[in-house]
Amino acid sequence: MVVPYKHEPFTDFTVEENRQQMLAALEKVEKDLGKEYPLIIGGERITTEEKIISVNPAKKDEVVGYVSKANQELAEKAMQVADETFTTWRKSDPKFRADLLFRAAAIIRRRKHEFTAHLIKEGGKPWKEADADTAEAIDFLEYYGRQMLELKDGVKVNSRPIEHNQFHYIPLGVGVVISPWNFLFAIMAGTTVAAMVTGNTVLLKPASATPVIAYKFMEVLEEAGLPAGVINYIPGSGKEVGDYLVDHPRTRFVSFTGSREVGTRIFERAAVVHEGQKWLKRTIIEMGGKDTIVVDSEADLELAAQSIVQSAFGFSGQKCSACSRAVIHENVYDEVKARVAELAAKTTVGDPHDNSYYMGPVIDQAAYDKIMSYIDIGKQEGELLAGGEGDDSKGWFIKPTVFADVDPKARIMQEEIFGPVVGLTKAKNFTEAIEIANNTEYGLTGAVITNNRAHLEQAREDFHVGNLYFNRGCTAAIVGYQPFGGFNMSGTDSKAGGPDYLIHHMQGKTTSEMF
Ligand code: GLU
Repeated sequence: MVVPYKHEPFTDFTVEENRQQMLAALEKVEKDLGKEYPLIIGGERITTEEKIISVNPAKKDEVVGYVSKANQELAEKAMQVADETFTTWRKSDPKFRADLLFRAAAIIRRRKHEFTAHLIKEGGKPWKEADADTAEAIDFLEYYGRQMLELKDGVKVNSRPIEHNQFHYIPLGVGVVISPWNFLFAIMAGTTVAAMVTGNTVLLKPASATPVIAYKFMEVLEEAGLPAGVINYIPGSGKEVGDYLVDHPRTRFVSFTGSREVGTRIFERAAVVHEGQKWLKRTIIEMGGKDTIVVDSEADLELAAQSIVQSAFGFSGQKCSACSRAVIHENVYDEVKARVAELAAKTTVGDPHDNSYYMGPVIDQAAYDKIMSYIDIGKQEGELLAGGEGDDSKGWFIKPTVFADVDPKARIMQEEIFGPVVGLTKAKNFTEAIEIANNTEYGLTGAVITNNRAHLEQAREDFHVGNLYFNRGCTAAIVGYQPFGGFNMSGTDSKAGGPDYLIHHMQGKTTSEMF
């Protein structure tokens, strides 16, 4: 019997001992900077000429690693290995697969701060955010392992006399997992092991900004006993390797987390049936959000302002769950606006290395340029209350930025910015506030701050988002507690960390025997 699932606790870095351990872990990780990492195909290490250079976003001249880069030929080799390995892996014991995950979780837990230190470097995450990312990676392993144990015997169906009916789930085949850089550990690990523990083989193409953590995770899985060829590590360009594999007739499913642009592209391409393809590809796609916090007139206004600021600026707003709009009842608008401005101005930005700042950098130059151009747009569309400046001389730093009095249809209120920028707007009443909150093409997260029970119930029915939070911020879903995924253009609502997530990676088979 495995012990019941419980999420991994977060580390309290105000405890001196924890702080010292983290500093020691950072020192250790610094010794590993600038190393080379090969591809892993069928257990074989393959080094290529061409490299992806992973850098520390807080110090752009600090190279985290030089990672070999797959091309189409190597992607094809990986596909053949995965396809071949599937013929045996599909028959592996689900208990064996679950144990692999439990062991991998234990290995990571023992070296927790070391992984967190790596995320601080490769992802530019503040300590708290990096610690939460490592904890969530452990959670995905622990949770999906247990979910597989629950699903392995299928679901009970009826049988008539002298008949035995069975319904159970079997794997799909080769899955292409394309993971994001924002939860460089948790989502990469979660999407990969969900595909693997269900009996599929995997081609893992991690985000090009953060490929090293995925290599380190491969090492953990190998140490835990993962057979060669089950998961193949093939970083590479989306256009070259990503498209090739999404189009491939032997790809059975694609699991993607990332931008709406790429997600939509994958969805469209995966719908095309190619020569030699025997199935309709499955897609599990998690994209963006334009997430709103609604503040009612009867509400704890300090809680409202804190929730807006934390949800907007945690990890520099680079979460698809981040608050990028706040819709505030006109009776309390001025008060909340003033407090948000005050808190934003106090939010510090800098290199996360020694944990002295609330916010770190954004991930790369392209992100920096995009966010800064939205800040320029915001200056036309609203009143700049805080921030509005950036500095990309050493790393990609942008001040927490707040715009007030923005029209709900304005571009900064409609388009995903994926950075530390939030727009405030006024609503006449609660119903109008919910209407504004729903006026986007996305539907990922949202929060309502109110003490009015009827309004909470109204929001429960009418606020159309996959993750709705009451009297708290709209980020930080916990695996197994708040299954995560959104409606509309936010994706396929596959609910990562939820009880039906693994089923997306399998197909149901009915067997009926007459006695
Ligand atoms: N699960 C994360 C949260 O609840 C967000 C995931 C993402 O940004 O992709 O904040």
